[in-house]
Amino acid sequence: MSGKDVDVIIIGGGIGGLITGAILAKREGYRVLLLEKEKYLGGKIFSYEHSEFEPKEFKQLLYATVRSTVIRSDPPIDELLKAKTFKDYIFEGGWHGFIASDRSRMSFVLKALGGDCKIVPNRGLRWWLNEEWHELRDLMQGWTMEEVLEGREVSREMNLMSNEEADVFDHVDMEVYMRSRAKSPKVRQFHQVLAAWETGINDPALVSTGEHIKAINLVHRSGRDFQMGGCGEPEGGFNSLTRAFVKIIEDNGGMIQTASPVKEVLIEDYVARGVRVATPEGDQDYLAPAVVCNVPLQRAYPLVPAEYWPLEYMDRIAQIWPLAGILGWVCTKPPMDPNFAGIYVNPVMPGCSDADGFRGDVLFSCEDAGVIDPKRVPEGHGLLAVWCGLLPRNPDEIRNEELVDRAVEGMFTFLKHLMPNFDQQVQWYFLTRCEELYSMSVSPGLVGDRRLPVSHPTVKNLHFAGDSVAQWSFGLSGATGGAIHCASAVSGRDQSVILPAYMR
Ligand SMILES: Cc1cc2nc3c(=O)[nH]c(=O)nc-3n(C[C@H](O)[C@H](O)[C@H](O)COP(=O)(O)OP(=O)(O)OC[C@H]3O[C@@H](n4cnc5c(N)ncnc54)[C@H](O)[C@@H]3O)c2cc1C
Repeated sequence: MSGKDVDVIIIGGGIGGLITGAILAKREGYRVLLLEKEKYLGGKIFSYEHSEFEPKEFKQLLYATVRSTVIRSDPPIDELLKAKTFKDYIFEGGWHGFIASDRSRMSFVLKALGGDCKIVPNRGLRWWLNEEWHELRDLMQGWTMEEVLEGREVSREMNLMSNEEADVFDHVDMEVYMRSRAKSPKVRQFHQVLAAWETGINDPALVSTGEHIKAINLVHRSGRDFQMGGCGEPEGGFNSLTRAFVKIIEDNGGMIQTASPVKEVLIEDYVARGVRVATPEGDQDYLAPAVVCNVPLQRAYPLVPAEYWPLEYMDRIAQIWPLAGILGWVCTKPPMDPNFAGIYVNPVMPGCSDADGFRGDVLFSCEDAGVIDPKRVPEGHGLLAVWCGLLPRNPDEIRNEELVDRAVEGMFTFLKHLMPNFDQQVQWYFLTRCEELYSMSVSPGLVGDRRLPVSHPTVKNLHFAGDSVAQWSFGLSGATGGAIHCASAVSGRDQSVILPAYMR
């Protein structure tokens, strides 16, 4: 066995592992060794930054980072890649924004650790209704006074809830909750669509009300606002954020090794002692007093064999289902609307309603990443990030070719409706089938007390981070929360003090 003289080994360089490592290195003086299986860091937030990848490497990386495959493109994806088309652009494996923008959990952690990364905000949210885009506040114009009052009362109840009060609704779905709170179908739809957009789950009967309330309150209490978009992204793409956390780890004595797939956690007498890494020269063992696994829990078994997990935990891991969806990038010239740096939402794509065989009405969303952050595109171009969520289970929509085809058609029908000169305006596009957006969907059966704790129940010194462990909120905000819990468990000190109280 070879020792590297480190205090903690972190498996996986996704945002969860990077934040855990940065907190432990900077605030606790831990000697951190972070091992990432791919050649690049960031995991699901890896950015294709002026990329010139060959087709094989691009596709391999797309699957390794965001578990996505290209399902449609024009020109064909191999042609696009051989022509090095992407060298003028910056994009991720799909749309990425984080709630509460420059006042998100991630931004607070970054500032507390002395990191530097400029966040550009989304400015506004437009909603498609009666063949027009509307701002959120204008949606109520067609409502009766009774509906306006009912809508306000529902918002008031949600906004006044503390996190503890909202916990009570973790396992209550949004359909039942809204039915109990509002008579008006318009009021119900308004809140259900917002929740569907925010979580990516189309059917309100699958969305956790408690998680939704906590997430919207996090945005409001931070001083940011859904009406104004309420999201942000790192200028120049998410690699900037990855680099900021890497710098904190390395400036504080930490080491990061890419192309280092961990094969297993070394466990002796129910104590984690280190990890075994596959290297071209053969397996190599690294030892440390603590191990953090940032691999999504549903893939943790080969690393921590099933025999170490209590049955009840295995049951919960088996129930974890990630959110899936169709995502893609559409490059236009000129941008769709150079004056709107915000988010577009259509509550139902043409031909993709619940009545068309989907579970819930399939919501479509897009934003022009090039208008929000001009560093991402050549001047005069737009770069539309388009997406819709689909289920991976019960029923499996993402692997159902017919439903996927119909969703893709729905996307294009709507885009062509928005851009009547679509064929002339679009320079290139590609769409992907993504099997795992978030490692864990925000559904009533999976959240709150059903999430797994950050420390292994029986193996000492083994901890977990990322977007599938105990936390609240989801995606990047959740992964940041998970990382803070994990760093607290490893160090034995409450690291949540980094955050304002309402975010803890
Ligand atoms: C297309 C897409 C769009 C999204 N949009 C949003 C959004 O708009 N807003 C939002 O909040 N969230 C969004 N998300 C979700 C968000 O990106 C994730 O929740 C978050 O990045 C997860 O981080 P993580 O560290 O938990 O996991 P990951 O990023 O999956 O990190 C796991 C890391 O572990 C590495 N690894 C795996 N196995 C091993 C091994 N054996 N040895 C070493 N390393 C290993 C992986 O390579 C990876 O780097 C989106 C996700 C996708 C895919």
